[in-house]
Amino acid sequence: MGLVVQKYGGTSVGSPERICGVADRIVRTRRSGHDLVVVVSAMGDSTDDLVDLARRVSSEDHPREMDMLLTAGERISMALVSMAVNDRGQQAVSFTGSQSGIVTDTSHTRAKILEIRADRIREELAKGRIVIVAGFQGVSKEREVTTLGRGGSDTTAVALAAALQATACEIYTDVDGVYTADPRVVPEARKLADLSYDEMLEMASLGAKVLHNRSVELARRYGVPLHVLSSFHGNEGTRIRKGVTMEQVVIRGIAHDPDVAKIALLGVPDRPGVASEIFQAVGGRGVNVRMIVQASAEGGKNDVTFAVGTHDVKIVLPVVEAARATLGARAFLYDPDVAILSVVGEGLATSAGTAGTVFRVLAEADVNIELISTSSITITCMVRQSDVERAVRALHQALQLEQGP
Ligand code: ASP
Ligand code: MG
Repeated sequence: MGLVVQKYGGTSVGSPERICGVADRIVRTRRSGHDLVVVVSAMGDSTDDLVDLARRVSSEDHPREMDMLLTAGERISMALVSMAVNDRGQQAVSFTGSQSGIVTDTSHTRAKILEIRADRIREELAKGRIVIVAGFQGVSKEREVTTLGRGGSDTTAVALAAALQATACEIYTDVDGVYTADPRVVPEARKLADLSYDEMLEMASLGAKVLHNRSVELARRYGVPLHVLSSFHGNEGTRIRKGVTMEQVVIRGIAHDPDVAKIALLGVPDRPGVASEIFQAVGGRGVNVRMIVQASAEGGKNDVTFAVGTHDVKIVLPVVEAARATLGARAFLYDPDVAILSVVGEGLATSAGTAGTVFRVLAEADVNIELISTSSITITCMVRQSDVERAVRALHQALQLEQGP
């Protein structure tokens, strides 16, 4: 029957009643003949509460102590889930990230997994036990407790599924899958039965915050089939796997993100090394740049425009001002009132004319496009923040995404 990895998010284990519900589901899966490793998040908003507590005793950064503090949230869930499973007549044992053999680098609060020494998990599985693992955490090569960054429990689940060669990795969450657009913006958005890894990465990086991006990347690299499901009802969720796109489906969905800012460096010299200088500096501060457009404005000069997440603006502005001074650029502009939307689908690679359709729909909705960039599976536009929801609704309707394949 094979090994299944299940991951339960914070809402799914948010109360004693919900933990009992999760335990019922775990026991059902075990009785159907599967070996089972379960990854849990901290209960409800308890990670946020712990961050808040830390702020109330200190205004400094204490990365090591922060990791000690935050890993406690997942330890509470793992122990409670294990108790509830044992009460239901199945043997379970809970493990911290360190006990699970999840070895990370030393970057506190955003560690990367280096390897998984899963011997202890395998031993327990061999004894017929269900192993409950605290998500979002590991132990560094220097034997310090680390965390994988907010939302990191998904990554724990996928990494364990890859290391243990699980046949499935099920992510139980408070939504029942991935939709053609954000259902809060487009009420007729439709749940997608399946998506490719690349499509999911595009949907996720633009704010369809169902899965931690790193978990999708990891799943793609190791070919781990992912299944996103609701822990509250039995609906079929969304499956994420390789090359599933049926040929007639061109566009899978529209992702959007209102929390971005536009930054432009005007009149930078037109010579080798300029873009490198700007983006090495920005990237060196750990900032993820979302769109880059360079165009030559006047002879010998270029304008370089790009987008970053709102939360990165404070870090980026001084870096860009420094680059402006060194490069002798004429000026730099900063505009926080923009948003990005992206039409996503593997079929875009081979369909002619979709870009034209997208731009026509936006024009008819009176939405001005400030930047455009495309890849083989996306058409991405920057628009005014106040226009983005109207733009997404117009596109969803015109592209008939509410209708299934
Ligand atoms: N509890 C952590 C967080 O809230 C990790 C997770 O839930 O994935 O970010
Ligand atoms: Mg999450």
